[in-house]
Amino acid sequence: MTEPRDAVADLRRIAFLLERAHESTYRVRAFRGAAAVLRGRDPDELARLSASGELVRLKGVGEVTARCVAESVAGEEPVYLRRLEATVSSSAHVTPLDEAAAALRTALRGDCHSHTEASDGGSPLWEMAETARSLGHEYLVVTDHSPRLTVANGLSADRLRAQIEQVAELNEELGSGFRVLTGIEVDILDDGALDQDEDLLAQLDVVVASVHSKLRMPKAEMTERMLTAVANPHVDVLGHCTGRMVTGNRKRPESEFDADAVFAACAEYGVAVEINSRPERLDPPKRLLRLAVEAGCDFTIDTDAHAPGQLDWLGNGCDRAARCGVPADRVLNTLPADNLLARSR
Ligand SMILES: [Zn+2]
Ligand SMILES: [Zn+2]
Repeated sequence: MTEPRDAVADLRRIAFLLERAHESTYRVRAFRGAAAVLRGRDPDELARLSASGELVRLKGVGEVTARCVAESVAGEEPVYLRRLEATVSSSAHVTPLDEAAAALRTALRGDCHSHTEASDGGSPLWEMAETARSLGHEYLVVTDHSPRLTVANGLSADRLRAQIEQVAELNEELGSGFRVLTGIEVDILDDGALDQDEDLLAQLDVVVASVHSKLRMPKAEMTERMLTAVANPHVDVLGHCTGRMVTGNRKRPESEFDADAVFAACAEYGVAVEINSRPERLDPPKRLLRLAVEAGCDFTIDTDAHAPGQLDWLGNGCDRAARCGVPADRVLNTLPADNLLARSR
C-alpha cells in the first residue's frame, strides 16, 4: 500500500501557492480553514473520516477540501495541488531573478513588514511565523496597522500590548534559529504625527511609518508631513513612500512630495526607505529608488505580506533593488536580527 501523505501539509501548500499567486483571502480561506480544523489529528483518523464520508460533516471542510484529503490519505498528490504547482511557477507575481537580484535575495535574512489577522491579514501570527521560517527567514517583523486605520481593523494600544505578549510566548515555543520581532505599521497622520502611544512605539523592535490617508495632499504639505514623521526618533522605516497602486481595480497615482528633501532626511535620521514588494505597489518607483540610493539612504526590502504565501514576494523587491543599484550592505534586512535591532533602537 502507498504511504499516506500529510493531508494538512498538502492543504497548507495549496493555500500558500494561491496566496503567492495573489488570490483573494476569500478563495484561500477554504484551504486554510480545513487545515486548521484537521491539524493535529492522526493520519488513521483522517483516513477513517475520509473513507466514511464524515469529513465533509466537519465544520470548515467542504467538498473540494475533502477530495484533496482523500487523495492525500491515499498517498496521492491531490489533483488540485498538482495543477497549481504546474501553473504558479510561471506566475506573474513571482519575478524570475537575474544573478544580481538572486544574490540579494539570498542575502536577506528576514522581512520587516507583515500583517496578521489581528489587523487586515488573513492568517494568525503563528502561521505567518511558521511560513517565514519555512522560507528560510531568521526573523519576521509583525507590523499590524494602527488605530486610525479602522478599515484595516488597526490595533488599539491595548491590543498591541497583547500582541507584544503573544509574540514573546510564541518565541519561547519556537526556540532558537528563528524569531518574531515586534513592530507596527503606524499611520502618518495629516500633520506628520504618529498614530500610536509614544511609550509603545519606544518599546517595539521595528516601527514602519506609512501614509494611508489624504494621499492627494498638496506637495508642500505632504513634504512637511513626511519630514515630520521621518524626524520622529521612533521611526525606523518609511513604508511604501508614494502610496501608488499600479495594478488591479484600485489604481492610484503617486503622492506628490519633494523626494530630494524626504530622502535627505531619511539619510540624516537613519530611517530606511522601504522597497515594497507587493505586485500592486512596487513602491518606490525606480526613478525615486535611484534618487534614494544617491541620497545615501539605507533600505529594507519587505513583502508587506497579508497572507503567508505573500511572504515569498521578496524577489520582486530584490529585482527592483538590483536594477536600481541598491548595494546589499545598505539593505538592513540582510543583517542578523541582533544587528538590525541595534540599528533600529
Ligand atoms: Zn501600508
Ligand atoms: Zn502594510
